[in-house]
Amino acid sequence: MPVPRHRLVIPALCLAALVALGCVAAPQTPSGQPQRPAGTPATPAAERPDTDLDGTDTVEEFQADLEDARALAEEYWKTEFEASGLTFQPVAELIPYERDGEVGCGGQPLTRNNAAYCSAGDFIAYDVRWAFSAFRQIGDAFIFYLLGHEYAHAIQRRLRIQQQFTIEQELQADCMAGAYLGDLVKAKRLRLADGDLEELALGLEAVGDEPGQPWFAEGAHGTAKQRTRAFSNGYSRSLEPCNLS
Ligand SMILES: [Zn+2]
Repeated sequence: MPVPRHRLVIPALCLAALVALGCVAAPQTPSGQPQRPAGTPATPAAERPDTDLDGTDTVEEFQADLEDARALAEEYWKTEFEASGLTFQPVAELIPYERDGEVGCGGQPLTRNNAAYCSAGDFIAYDVRWAFSAFRQIGDAFIFYLLGHEYAHAIQRRLRIQQQFTIEQELQADCMAGAYLGDLVKAKRLRLADGDLEELALGLEAVGDEPGQPWFAEGAHGTAKQRTRAFSNGYSRSLEPCNLS
């Protein structure tokens, strides 16, 4: 499926007001310009011994990274659940969309420039043009963060975790995304290349709330600093700081 190059636009409000949704909120790059020139080798992410990574930031690599991120999330959470004596059920579907309202969640339309987990259908949906733009502008590591964050909302749902405030739910998901990535790197299931940690930092900077967003607002996800701290805690210390129990 050809996805044209598309610059990131003004971040849309995240759909966190919808009870059934958890979302990542749209990133914007600080300059609005690509962070790396087209054709610069992207970093290989997951170990895929049967696949020859071509090292480019193509649509094919974008889709391969998404599939890797999903497969590794399933592997990671299955292991964690089984270690706790729980049965793990993978997220049912990963659904790309291109237009406002093309995909709905519990009767609410999903909007462009976003990604969300929908508990009503147990799927993760993402604006494919937006996600591909972020992939090209921020880097492939952002796709692993994005998938890791949305997958974390599915895990929260499975564990019946419902925090009082949206921001708590979101920062916990960032912590869990950090644990997922950090633990996979430590287990050598995921290999970070030069620049990937910088890409993650840039991605977290981009998805921080705008200044002035009240922390208690339904759409609040946390400032860039709060989100970075939550992710870093999980990345370096696994799930312990995420307070899942
Ligand atoms: Zn979220």
